[in-house]
Amino acid sequence: MFIAGKWEEAAGGRRFDVTNPANGEVLADVPDGGAQDAARAIDAAFDAFPGWAGATAYDRSRALFKAWQIMMERKEELALTMTREQGKPIRAARNEVQYAADFLQWYSEEAKRVYGATIPSARADQRFITLRQPVGVVAAITPWNYPVSMITRKLAPALAAGCTLVLKPAEATPLCAVEMFKIFEEAGFPPGVVNLVTAGDPAPIGEEFVSNRKVAKLTFTGSTPVGKMLAGRAAAEMKRVSCELGGHAPFLVFGDADPVHAAKGAQLVKFLNTGQACISPNRMLVQRALVDDFVGTLSERVGSMKAGNGLEDGITIGPLVNQAAVDKVAAQVEDAAAKGAEIVCGGKRLTDGGLDKGFFYAPTVLAGVTPEMRIYREETFGPVAPVIAFDDDDEALAMANDTHYGLAAYVYTQNNSRAMRMFEGLNFGIIGINDINPTSAAAPFGGMNDSGLGREGGRDGIDEYLETKLGGFSI
Ligand code: NAP
Repeated sequence: MFIAGKWEEAAGGRRFDVTNPANGEVLADVPDGGAQDAARAIDAAFDAFPGWAGATAYDRSRALFKAWQIMMERKEELALTMTREQGKPIRAARNEVQYAADFLQWYSEEAKRVYGATIPSARADQRFITLRQPVGVVAAITPWNYPVSMITRKLAPALAAGCTLVLKPAEATPLCAVEMFKIFEEAGFPPGVVNLVTAGDPAPIGEEFVSNRKVAKLTFTGSTPVGKMLAGRAAAEMKRVSCELGGHAPFLVFGDADPVHAAKGAQLVKFLNTGQACISPNRMLVQRALVDDFVGTLSERVGSMKAGNGLEDGITIGPLVNQAAVDKVAAQVEDAAAKGAEIVCGGKRLTDGGLDKGFFYAPTVLAGVTPEMRIYREETFGPVAPVIAFDDDDEALAMANDTHYGLAAYVYTQNNSRAMRMFEGLNFGIIGINDINPTSAAAPFGGMNDSGLGREGGRDGIDEYLETKLGGFSI
């Protein structure tokens, strides 16, 4: 753990193992922190806050830029750590490292653009001026599925704004976090500005984050139930909260779209990270006339994917994170099949060729999915593409919006007015129109309803870490 500029053991002296989900190999062990360690890290961040908030935007920008430079030098090393620890194929890990680094670079620039305003007053003897100031100490909790970019997406804007921070990464991926904190150490952030607490049991640390008076803001990425619980606790202390939570993205393919192009996009985005992405499509809504062509192309592409250890050549799909994830996927597929869905391809665990040592499930396409099936409403977080037919635009929009989640949606159409109607009518924070990667460090990422509060990335992302202070001057 990294606290007040030093690498530390947990106060209780315990450590826990980190394993490779592709083969069960123990990769390393790390300190198993608790509430006492979280409190120590919060104290360090609190003590460092006045100095960091008082540094110039140019100083903060330089440190972030330096971190970006070091990260680019270590790109391959970080990608290898990520594939070993999290399981995604090495190419996807390299892409994530680049996406993660983009946040450091973009916010190193944005740090210099935190502007206030002058506001005309109705009184001749009065002047209004606003200042944008950092909120204070930030407590951050991140998931395992994007173990590097979820860190920089929070940390870069927080540091650019002048906040100090304590991070608790996911239990499954602390090694990526440790590698990132070595980079922050080398980049020269003053002691206490960035702090890392690793833990096998997240609950005591989460409790310390939401109850400690020195924490001004909680930023959480993870599942909706945990996000709701933590946001509720933080609200009781009137802490600022942002939450990036689960999703159930619809992927709409209209009759005027090219079904082969749409199916190619669907396969690429659905099976990215083995379906373990919050913006992963969870319902493929396809206009009835296109269903056969779409399912044909999709299942052909899915059938040729190769599962295995992401460090090996030709592997296009990695393992799931753990046994519970495999069981959840299997249960949703079994439920759908029992209620009449057709398993077009996949639909089973993969164990041959040494895969039994990891957590593998075959990439799967289900046709004839209906609202009675669990998969129609529950986030799968696994490699299953459920296909559902619709007849017209109104039905498609109603089906797409028939969820409590509201993170991402995708639309395939060649008709501009339909594209605009869908963009306006879909109740989701991110809409890809003929586009399967509507994300960037420069753009706001976030959801509505059960998918969370606030935005990360872009100009909106730094607002989450700033207070607006008004000065009224009588002259
Ligand atoms: P999770 O179980 O909610 O865990 C996320 C983080 O919260 C982990 O660090 C976890 O620690 C921690 N945590 C769990 N219980 C906690 C508690 N009581 N107090 C404090 N911290 C606690 O979610 P996950 O299964 O790892 O991640 C998958 C979910 O994240 C999916 O629903 C996915 O859609 C969502 N996600 C959303 C976005 C987005 O941007 N909207 C991005 C990525 C993922 P441990 O690891 O030790 O359990």
